[in-house]
Amino acid sequence: MKSAVKTAATSLFSLLFPSDCRICGSSLIHFARLPVCEPCLAQLRPLDGLLCRICGEKLFSSHAVGMEGPLCGLCRRAEPAFRCATAYGAYEGALRELIHLFKYERVQPAGLLLGRLLAQAVQGMPMPEHVLMVPVPLWAGRQRDRGFNQAEAIARAFLRLHPHSIIQLDTSVLVRTRETASQTGLTRRQRRVNVRGAFAVASASHVKGRSVLIVDDVMTTGTTAGECARVLRRAGAKEVFVATVARATKEVERITVNAAGAHGGIRGHA
Ligand SMILES: [Zn+2]
Ligand SMILES: [Zn+2]
Repeated sequence: MKSAVKTAATSLFSLLFPSDCRICGSSLIHFARLPVCEPCLAQLRPLDGLLCRICGEKLFSSHAVGMEGPLCGLCRRAEPAFRCATAYGAYEGALRELIHLFKYERVQPAGLLLGRLLAQAVQGMPMPEHVLMVPVPLWAGRQRDRGFNQAEAIARAFLRLHPHSIIQLDTSVLVRTRETASQTGLTRRQRRVNVRGAFAVASASHVKGRSVLIVDDVMTTGTTAGECARVLRRAGAKEVFVATVARATKEVERITVNAAGAHGGIRGHA
């Protein structure tokens, strides 16, 4: 009887407020807080295959596995300032759409799911339990326009799902000191110049000797995470880990292929 009433109420609600999946546009059968259909949610898949053991980049060449384990050409040449970066899935398809729904269309319930995916990414990372969680800060102006910092919201969702965790959130220790141009379309070298000096540690005593976990929604080439890690390490952090919900792998694919190829040139997308 109770469930019949509930079903009737749900149908009435869907009649009054018909809702479509915000990713594929198909009609939603059940009312859900997150307006995304089951088939779209089923498309969310973790990264698989061979990944660089430092930056988590997908490796496509058998040349990438050497004595030191799976390493991409870039990490082999120069280790990043972070010890290890991990991501839940590839920044494409339903995962990309879900992040956009949250970030640009402010579909708040998507944040909780992104927090859950972040938790999956963090699982298995060789990281101490009492880590300091630091979301990548946004430039103040950008945060005002967007209304929130997606990295911080995802970190908070993660912690809400793990109320007994001893992970400590710190949203003020890392600050953005200037606005940076969009990284889209820049080469890796241009990206590095673009973010150089864009972050600072507000209080070195908060990070001195600590293990830090940088959190963001997407990692593209890792230059932003690398720069955050560099300033945190310089301020005395013992080690820095990076976790993101998604990882852009397309560009990486080209870089790995180029690095392993006869010319050995490293190019970002031009
Ligand atoms: Zn859908
Ligand atoms: Zn790497």
